[in-house]
Amino acid sequence: MPDPTDSDVTERRRIAYVLPVYNEQDNIAVFHAALSEATDARSDLDFEFVYVNDGSRDDSLERLLELRAKDPRVTVLSLSRNFGHQLAVTAGLDLVAEDASADAVIVMDTDLQDPPKVSVQMLDLWEDGVDVVYGQRRSRKDTVFKRSTAYLFYWALDRLASIEIPRNVGDFRLMDARVVAEVARYREHGRFLRGIVADVGFRQEALLFDRDERFAGETGYPLRKMLSFAANGILGFSTAPLRMISRLGIFISLLSVLLAIYVLFVRLFRPDQSVPGWAFLGVGMFLLGGIQLIMMGVIGMYLGRVYIEAQDRPLYSLALVARDGAPPHPRRH
Ligand code: UDP
Ligand code: MG
Repeated sequence: MPDPTDSDVTERRRIAYVLPVYNEQDNIAVFHAALSEATDARSDLDFEFVYVNDGSRDDSLERLLELRAKDPRVTVLSLSRNFGHQLAVTAGLDLVAEDASADAVIVMDTDLQDPPKVSVQMLDLWEDGVDVVYGQRRSRKDTVFKRSTAYLFYWALDRLASIEIPRNVGDFRLMDARVVAEVARYREHGRFLRGIVADVGFRQEALLFDRDERFAGETGYPLRKMLSFAANGILGFSTAPLRMISRLGIFISLLSVLLAIYVLFVRLFRPDQSVPGWAFLGVGMFLLGGIQLIMMGVIGMYLGRVYIEAQDRPLYSLALVARDGAPPHPRRH
């Protein structure tokens, strides 16, 4: 959190918006008008609007360039093809992180589902010292299918993942510059940004809002993209599925032991009863199957470690350095 006393009082603080765009030609003008109107309330701040065109197939790019001709605060990035929402946002964040050109960054959708007015409220919380303000949906106007799959996904993520990811939270959020700098150090390809931001730490708080309906056009998140997004969330932040293999193996091996005890018991103490032929086969099958699964789980555990190392994430993020000879200062980039 920048401290107003340590910088020139006349220096204006800069806020960058990162705005992913995929086939939003009919939303751009309306969205930008609403955003300009909302941000006009904060004439004490400088704004940059970084629109990232994620390989749109419609006239979005032309609309964005028209916008830039009218409003010099607009920056336009255009990806060479559709890389998906998470990477589009990453490209925008990287641009801001590279030259540390903003004191805070706000990420929001450009279909008017995230209300621009709420993003301005986020600034108040940031000025009170909160590093990450995430928009939490009090209500959402999505289809029953979207809501129920989202619920299931967050339930599974909550049980499996190693970090706590708040529920009903999308990528609509404000991040202080130092959080943006930390996020930029996460270079994994299968990105799950809200998990990365949660993983980074610092002071994070929710701001409740009502999510509106998409203004025009249709969702850029069909089932296929939703599934790969969900996989990135669970696999990116958990190796629990690998560990489950061993647990299943142990369970099946135990079954075989129980069966073996039963067979032995009948053989030794009930000579009048004969053991059915499948019992021996069953013992062998369960035992072998179980042992195999346990072994696969062991391999899974090593694979999990290899995976974690391959992600090559930062080991930690510093929030403060207090050292002899220098006053304590928040880490700045
Ligand atoms: N988006 C993107 N690339 C994509 C899909 C979506 O940049 O491949 C953008 C889209 O323009 C919007 C935001 O990401 O600003 C959220 O997408 P969308 O509204 O389609 O998702 P939903 O709100 O239905 O989950
Ligand atoms: Mg949307």
